[in-house]
Amino acid sequence: MKLRLGLQARFLLAMAVVLAVVVALLALLLHRQGQLHAETEALGNDTVHQMVEDYLHSRGHAVAEHLAVILANPLYYQDLEAIGRILRDNRRGDLIHYLLVFDREGRLVHDGTTEIDGYGWRMDDPLAAGAVAAEQTLSQSSPQVLEVSAPIRVGSERIGGVRVGLSIPVAYDYEQRNTERLGASMEELARRYREWLALMLLMLLAVALLAAMYVQRTLVHPIRKLAAAARRIEAGDYSVQGQGSTRTDELGELVRAFDRMSESVARHDRDVRRMAYTDALTGLTNRLAFRESLDHRLMALRGSDHQLALLFADIDDFKRVNDTLGHEAGDEALLQFSGRIRDAVEKYGGPDALLARFGGDEFVILVQEGDVRAAATRLAEALVAELRRPLDIQDRQVFLGASIGITLFPEDASSATALMKNGDIAMYQAKVAGKSGFRFYSRAMDHAVERRVHMEQELRGAWERGELSVVYQPLCRTSDGRVVGAEALLRWQHPMLGTIAPSVFIDVAEQSGLIEQIGPQVLLTACSEAVRWLPRADGERPFVSVNVSPRQLRRGDLPDMVARCLRETGLPASCLHLELTETSVISDELQASALLARLHSTGVKVWLDDFGTGFSGLSHLRRVPVDGVKIDRSFVADLQRDPDDLALTTAIIAMAHSLGITVVAEGVEKEVQYNLLVERGCDLVQGYWLSHPISAGEFAHLLAQGVR
Ligand code: C2E
Ligand code: MG
Ligand code: MG
Repeated sequence: MKLRLGLQARFLLAMAVVLAVVVALLALLLHRQGQLHAETEALGNDTVHQMVEDYLHSRGHAVAEHLAVILANPLYYQDLEAIGRILRDNRRGDLIHYLLVFDREGRLVHDGTTEIDGYGWRMDDPLAAGAVAAEQTLSQSSPQVLEVSAPIRVGSERIGGVRVGLSIPVAYDYEQRNTERLGASMEELARRYREWLALMLLMLLAVALLAAMYVQRTLVHPIRKLAAAARRIEAGDYSVQGQGSTRTDELGELVRAFDRMSESVARHDRDVRRMAYTDALTGLTNRLAFRESLDHRLMALRGSDHQLALLFADIDDFKRVNDTLGHEAGDEALLQFSGRIRDAVEKYGGPDALLARFGGDEFVILVQEGDVRAAATRLAEALVAELRRPLDIQDRQVFLGASIGITLFPEDASSATALMKNGDIAMYQAKVAGKSGFRFYSRAMDHAVERRVHMEQELRGAWERGELSVVYQPLCRTSDGRVVGAEALLRWQHPMLGTIAPSVFIDVAEQSGLIEQIGPQVLLTACSEAVRWLPRADGERPFVSVNVSPRQLRRGDLPDMVARCLRETGLPASCLHLELTETSVISDELQASALLARLHSTGVKVWLDDFGTGFSGLSHLRRVPVDGVKIDRSFVADLQRDPDDLALTTAIIAMAHSLGITVVAEGVEKEVQYNLLVERGCDLVQGYWLSHPISAGEFAHLLAQGVR
């Protein structure tokens, strides 16, 4: 393992080394000081000893010479009393051990006492001989005494001498006391010196500690903070707050530079994210960001008892907008749609709702609030209603709508992928169920999708197997209440599933292209049946109206095919009506106009089917030469309840009439609807109230009866 030495560790190490050196120096100093102390003490003792010796000698000399002077007279006159007094006066203190005065022959004259024991005796102590013989001041010593003797003279004659004995033990005692005092004060000095050193050491330690703290605060701590922030940024967490520093030194500069850098990195990251995660057109979250967010939310929800609803919305027939009005209009439609969806989501989706454009005309919404099923239902209802309202695009009213599939977590699926798939399936089912609505996902739908694939396979060759047939729904003229024609409607009699409605299989046929084979067959069948319908008494022939899919129209050979059919069956062209959907006509007005002109030239009439559900608007009718419009049954259904529908229907009838166009209303189920339409001058009506679709034979029978 590689040992990592941090800045602080290194600093502490350096401090420790410095401290160790300082301590070693101090120890050396202490040692030296000890030696010095010992040397000084020895030197001091010597000096004191020397001083004591010198003092003894000089004192001895001084006393002896002084006495020699002042004793000259008393000795000359043998005045023992005066001598005794002088000796006693000079023998104060215990340093002077004895004072002896002797005569010329060395006999004791006085010793300072009153009795003067040994008066007149010759002195016989060991130092006496030297003292008596000395002509000058002389000092000599025994172990106990330092003796200084001086001759006493009168004039130049030596009349005797004086001996001063100084006590060596007393002197030494004195010396001892002095050296002890000196030692004590030196010891005191040394102690103070050591204390001072210790204090120095303590102060040094404190300084080191303070320095460490200072370095920690001003250097290590900010650098560590910077490093931690850098690591977080490196890990992708850009929420790091600016470190901020008011310091004016290099570190402050570094911190500020770091702040600026991290801000710019974060900004850059935000930009990149925004670009990668938002949809350029609508500014909504895009598919990528949505998937990430969905994954996160699912992860967070797992294990909790919270639910989540995913709404998958797809604009109905959006392709038509692009195909017919161009991509710019398509973009505008998407923008308006996304605006409406956003408003609805803000209103009903709750604070945690997430809206994303999933691509093309698909939007996804996550709802996470409270009872998600109820919340999703509310939102879906609002969306369907909002998106059904016409859009204003390039001065046209465009009618679109959206189908929404809803799936719930964890009820329907627990993985993001499965949820998305479910949402798609449910959305698809909403489309199959008639579009502009919503469906909750159910397991059965999985089968529905499978069924759809299956259906396509089964639809292939269904005509040849005789499973497909054509039924006819009578159309009635309002002016005289007569049946004047019928709409040919395809039926599929499935061997296992029974009758399947066109709303289910026409879409499959359309998308798979099968309609291109089935359509002509229907046309041929309808024509060959209609040719058998007898004209009425007044010679008016009933017509048959055949639905033509946008795909058939796009092929461009429709006029030829129609002409061939008419030729082959012998049906007069005036007895054939073609029902085109608005969209297929509008996709290319120029081409459509040309096509319609060619169709007209064959003599057939062209009606616009499901009028009002697309986005052609009334003005469009002026530019496209059609013979009639079939008002969609969704308008008729609400005629008596919805004043808007009634107004629109009234406007369509009036407008169409002003252009000389026939108006047909389909889906009339009630008498009130019929009456309202008649009142407004609708030309033809069709619906269950008059008759359900019936077989060709039944229709022929109906005609023969001549009643409606
Ligand atoms: P469409 O052309 O609008 O046909 C009218 C539909 O309304 C028919 O449904 C008819 O049965 C139904 N209908 C008639 N009166 C009423 C009523 O009073 N109330 C209600 N609720 N419905 C009524 P159908 O037969 O299911 O056909 C559905 C659609 O399938 C047709 O709508 C048409 O677009 C398409 N379709 C049917 N046959 C063909 C065909 O041979 N070729 C093509 N391309 N499309 C066809
Ligand atoms: Mg029709
Ligand atoms: Mg219709």
